[in-house]
Amino acid sequence: MRVALFSAKKYERKLLDELNAGHRHELVYFDTLLEPETVSLAAGFPAVSVFTNDNVDGGVLKRLAAGGTKLVATRSTGFNQIDLCAAKQLGVKVVRVTDYSPNSVAEFGVGLLLALNRKICRAYNRTREGNFELDGLMGFDFVGRTVGVMGTGKIGTTFARIMAGFGCTVIGYDVGRSPRFEELGGQYVDVATLQGEADIISLHCPLTPQTHHIVDARFLAGTKKGSLLVNTSRGGLIDTEAGIEALKSGQLGGLAIDVYEQEASLFFRDLSNTVIPDDVIQRLVSFPNVILTGHQAFFTREAVGTILDTTLASISDFAAGRPLANEIKV
Ligand code: NAD
Repeated sequence: MRVALFSAKKYERKLLDELNAGHRHELVYFDTLLEPETVSLAAGFPAVSVFTNDNVDGGVLKRLAAGGTKLVATRSTGFNQIDLCAAKQLGVKVVRVTDYSPNSVAEFGVGLLLALNRKICRAYNRTREGNFELDGLMGFDFVGRTVGVMGTGKIGTTFARIMAGFGCTVIGYDVGRSPRFEELGGQYVDVATLQGEADIISLHCPLTPQTHHIVDARFLAGTKKGSLLVNTSRGGLIDTEAGIEALKSGQLGGLAIDVYEQEASLFFRDLSNTVIPDDVIQRLVSFPNVILTGHQAFFTREAVGTILDTTLASISDFAAGRPLANEIKV
């Protein structure tokens, strides 16, 4: 099957070409994002593959369908960039990668948290300049602290397991329940209790209309003063301006994010030679108690291999008319 792969990175192309030997699809790579300005590139491709920051809204889907596209395969777990209702109406099937190393994201979240609490990035920069001063680098022990996990699915529960291993008390908020989370000793609480008790809050729910800005000014005002917030899920979960105000007042003790609301125009490219016009991200990186990474939590050999393998397998299933195990249904 002819497949147009948007946002195709160098590291993916090599691996995809190897894995495709077992599938024999005709893979055509595009560096660019899929968006209204680039959708014409997909004309004549029955399958289109996208990543987290491509724009697969109703208008783009309409043009994809008109050009003969029948399958959209996102090389990610999250699918907030795709208008599923429009896809259904247009008869375009959508598949994702439901299960790939939740460890990759959970372990990275813990790494961010350690770096934020123990000021590892600041210390790294200082020692390279010959500054071995400890002032400003003090953190706190994790043991005995309370960790609030918002969204106790695959990644949230894995994160909870690691934090329980540090000797933390783990509490969680979710619209559903995970028996595994409870087996680990995790206790379900309401949002107000999580806000009031957690020293560390980590976000692991998907971005939906219900979770958009789930962390806003009101939420932050109800948290423990000086608590740490980690987001490896989706940028839109946090009202970034409210986060900045909470950092300025000291209500928020530190913020570590791998995702950012406006990341689509910034992430996954080298902008080091340009003037970044986004004042919000520039303000964020100016704080000594903010760590920002560019959506790399998934980026391990194991996870990327599984993502690409699963994507090709879904396309092969679609081409052969087999049931789609990873189809997202509205
Ligand atoms: P999952 O589906 O296993 O878990 C999501 C959990 O969130 C579920 O338990 C669900 O019930 C819960 N949830 C849904 N709506 C909620 C709400 N309104 N309030 C509270 N909880 C709610 O998904 P997962 O594999 O654990 O992935 C979680 C998220 O992580 C993905 O949606 C994606 O956005 C993000 N992610 C980020 C990266 C990265 O590289 N930074 C990589 C993979 C996934």
